[in-house]
Amino acid sequence: MSSAHATVAEEEYRQTLFWLHEAGLPMTGANLARAMQLSAPTVHEMVRRLENDGYITRATDKTISFTGSGLAHATDVVSRHRLIERYLTDVVGVPWDDVHEEAENLEHNMSPRFEAYMREAIGDAKTCPHGHPIEVGTRIEGVPLADVQVGAKVTVLRFVIEGEDLLHVLMASGLEPGLQGILATADDDAVVVEAPDGSRAEVTPSVAATVSVLADPSPPARVTLPEQLVLAIKRYGR
Ligand SMILES: [Zn+2]
Ligand SMILES: [Zn+2]
Repeated sequence: MSSAHATVAEEEYRQTLFWLHEAGLPMTGANLARAMQLSAPTVHEMVRRLENDGYITRATDKTISFTGSGLAHATDVVSRHRLIERYLTDVVGVPWDDVHEEAENLEHNMSPRFEAYMREAIGDAKTCPHGHPIEVGTRIEGVPLADVQVGAKVTVLRFVIEGEDLLHVLMASGLEPGLQGILATADDDAVVVEAPDGSRAEVTPSVAATVSVLADPSPPARVTLPEQLVLAIKRYGR
């Protein structure tokens, strides 16, 4: 495994593969493409590179698995990524919809000493600002907000996909990890969560599919990857 080959792009692939692994979704090129919102051929190329570099193996049915060292590396990087995001949000004051890209750049040049300072600085925070556990393996399972029925109580657990555009949309909607409310509307155009103070957070159903929540009553547990993300809500003369 040569780090000379490691690029920021490659790292992003490894993190997304790790996320599929963590979420219990099949690690396939198709799911990787969907999670990264990229075309299948683009993804295929990188998957071959990761295989050559010894991070992953591919079975005859095209299912991807981490090698032992590949998984150890991914766990390490993902945990550091989430720590940096939390540090940037809580200590530096970077808005949470901007920290993902910044963390991607920083996580490659981080000394263990500085990492220890960051850990100290974030206190007892357990997740990145998008709700993913810093200590890998302590993830609470949720259900997609898009599956929840009207009238149910919801608590936002995490934003499943950390794409820049998607995070901007989520920030603008008013949703955030830890938010509690009631599912007020769920139709083909919009999913709306109403908080106790009456404020309403509204997203499209495909964005709602990427928001993991605890719900009461709860639909069956599952993780979804929308085929295509529709970010903007269609307005019919409203
Ligand atoms: Zn991130
Ligand atoms: Zn995050």
